[in-house]
Amino acid sequence: APQRLQHQIALVTGGSSGIGAGVCLALAAEGATVVVNYSHSPEGAEETVGEIEKAGGKAIALKADVSKEDDVLRMFSQIREQFGTLHILVSNAGIQEDAPFLDMTLEQWQKVLDVNLTGQFLCAREAAREFMRRGPQPEISKATGKIICMSSVHEVIPWAGHVNYATSKGGIMLLMKSMAQELAPHKIRVNSIGPGAIKTPINNEAWETPEAAKKLLELIPYGRIGEPDDIGKVAVWLASDEADYITGVTLFADGGMTLYPGFASNG
Ligand code: NAD
Repeated sequence: APQRLQHQIALVTGGSSGIGAGVCLALAAEGATVVVNYSHSPEGAEETVGEIEKAGGKAIALKADVSKEDDVLRMFSQIREQFGTLHILVSNAGIQEDAPFLDMTLEQWQKVLDVNLTGQFLCAREAAREFMRRGPQPEISKATGKIICMSSVHEVIPWAGHVNYATSKGGIMLLMKSMAQELAPHKIRVNSIGPGAIKTPINNEAWETPEAAKKLLELIPYGRIGEPDDIGKVAVWLASDEADYITGVTLFADGGMTLYPGFASNG
C-alpha cells in the first residue's frame, strides 16, 4: 500500500516515551518526517529517532518544555529552519500529579494544567500560524494542516483523586472543538484521540502486577489493555486524507471503557 503521509512533516510532543513514541513510529512508517519532542532528557527521544531510522524513516529530536512559550516558539522556528514547514501536530505531552482533592496543592493543580492544557494551546496556536503562513499544498494533503490533541477517556469520565488531570482533559475537549470551528474555513482539521488504558510509564502501577491488571480489565469490555501502537494507528488515520471530512471529534480508542461497563452486569 502507498504510504499515507508522504512528504509531510509531523511534530509529536512528548515523543520520547509511551504513546508519543508509538505515534512517532506509526507516522514515520507512513512516510512522514517526524520531529520527536522531549522536555528534559534526550535519551528517550533519541531512542525513538534511532528506531525510526533503523526502519528506514526520517526523524530528529527537539527539546522544548511545551508549557513554556519561549521553548515552543524556539521549537517551531527550528522546525521551519530545518524542514521549511509543518503539516501535522500531535499534541501528546501530558503528565499526572495525583492527590486526593482535599490535599491537592495549588502547585500540583497548576503544573498539570500548564503542561496538559496550556501546552496544547501553545503548540496548536504555533502550528495553526505555520499552516496559515504556508498555505494550501493540495498535492501533499487535502487539508492545509492537521492538529491532533491527545486527550483521554477522562475528558468524559470523572476521576476522583485526579481532579487536575480530568480538568485538563475536559478543557482539551472544548479547546479542540473551538479551534476546529474557528479553523475549518482555513482547511485546518482539529481532532482528539481519547485513549483508554494504554501500557505506558504514566500508569504502570495500574497494569504491572497481575492483580492490578485484573482490576483494570473490569473497566475494559473488550478484554485487553491497549498498546501505544493502537493509538499510533488512530493518529495515522486521523492525519491522513482518509479522514479529510473529520474535524472537531474525539475518537475514543479505549476497548469500550467509555461504555459504562458497570451496567453490563446490572440488568
Ligand atoms: P508517558 O509518561 O509515557 O509520556 C508522556 C510524555 O510527555 C513523555 O515523553 C514526557 O517526556 C512528555 N512530557 C511531559 N511533560 C512535558 C513537557 N512539559 N514538555 C514536553 N513534553 C513533556 O505517558 P503516556 O501514557 O505516553 O502519555 C501520553 C499522553 O497520553 C498524555 O497526554 C496522557 O495524558 C495521554 N493518555 C495516556 C493514557 C494511558 O493509559 N497511558 C490514557 C489516556 C491518555
